[in-house]
Amino acid sequence: MRRWEEAIRCVTPYEPGEQPKGEDLVKLNTNENPYPPSPAVIARLEELKGGILRKYPDPASAELVKALGERYGLGEDRIFVGVGSDDVLALSFLTFFNSQRPVLFPDITYSFYKVWAELFGVPYVTLALDGEFGIRPEDYQRENGGVIFPNPNAPTGLYMPLDEVERIVAGNQDSVVIVDEAYVDFAGPSAAALLGKYENLLVVQTFSKSRSLAGLRVGFAMGSPRLIKALNDVKYSFNSYTMNLPAQILGAASLGDEAYFQETVDRIKETRERAKERFRGLGFSFPDSQANFLFVTHPRAEAKELFEALKRERIYVRYFHAPRLDNYLRVTIGTDGEMEKLFEFLERYLEKYSG
Ligand SMILES: *Cc1c(COP(=O)(O)O)cnc(C)c1O
Repeated sequence: MRRWEEAIRCVTPYEPGEQPKGEDLVKLNTNENPYPPSPAVIARLEELKGGILRKYPDPASAELVKALGERYGLGEDRIFVGVGSDDVLALSFLTFFNSQRPVLFPDITYSFYKVWAELFGVPYVTLALDGEFGIRPEDYQRENGGVIFPNPNAPTGLYMPLDEVERIVAGNQDSVVIVDEAYVDFAGPSAAALLGKYENLLVVQTFSKSRSLAGLRVGFAMGSPRLIKALNDVKYSFNSYTMNLPAQILGAASLGDEAYFQETVDRIKETRERAKERFRGLGFSFPDSQANFLFVTHPRAEAKELFEALKRERIYVRYFHAPRLDNYLRVTIGTDGEMEKLFEFLERYLEKYSG
């Protein structure tokens, strides 16, 4: 190793799902929404013509923050926006997890948490899910420097009822508790309902899944004014202009079309419930996901082999090479047509295991 190499920060990065290119493929591997964004979003693309991109964007993203405040019934001092929720979560690790005590999160969860903890040198302890992949709120009643978990959890899709979320928040009033709600719009009520009671709670959501805007990169956090100010102070110490102007304008436009949002979310939930029936009929089992994906396993078909076979058919799903997960596939809920292609293939593929 040369001397200059010794000073390089070495990290093991998060591995995002593949983004294969091409037409006729069925992409069910990164939990994107199969429907296009609201026409109200596309309508505002017009505004980007002319000279508007010549100038820096509003560093406070005021239009987007205002639209979020109205949508969620919160003051603007309770909302922070970022470049996708990954940006919001990374800044939250940097801002709130700054103690010698370990941060707590589930052993099976969004694998980025571990990456951020290591990048920022935050000590952490992972807590095992139960035999059914559930988070046990009682495990989170111990000394810590912060708590973070997704609800619904990833990649299981399991949604924890709000009273259990509240048990974790209530039992940890000396730390910041972050609930990562990337999939909550497909599930139950948001922990945002608890914000009035707990100043140490931060609820993070994204436009990437339920609002069909993964490519735009918009995420946000809701919390007490004290938490939001701390996040803003860190952000302004890093880069004032994180959110580009198109993201601010188009993100606000998406919030203006509640009817389209509800309709597409409902459609995905209906497809998800039908997909559960189909998977069950084919012999798969899975946690009862409330998200826009299913985490499925088959008693006879080996997951990795099936993953490769699907890929040869240009059907992409997600495979995790990790203990307890390596015989499962995470399948994003696509359109009914996409799901039909998947099930037609699975029926053929599984014939060799029947009888
Ligand atoms: C998708 C996802 C995110 C990040 O999404 P962004 O596109 O960065 O908003 C965060 N947490 C979980 C659990 C996710 O699945």
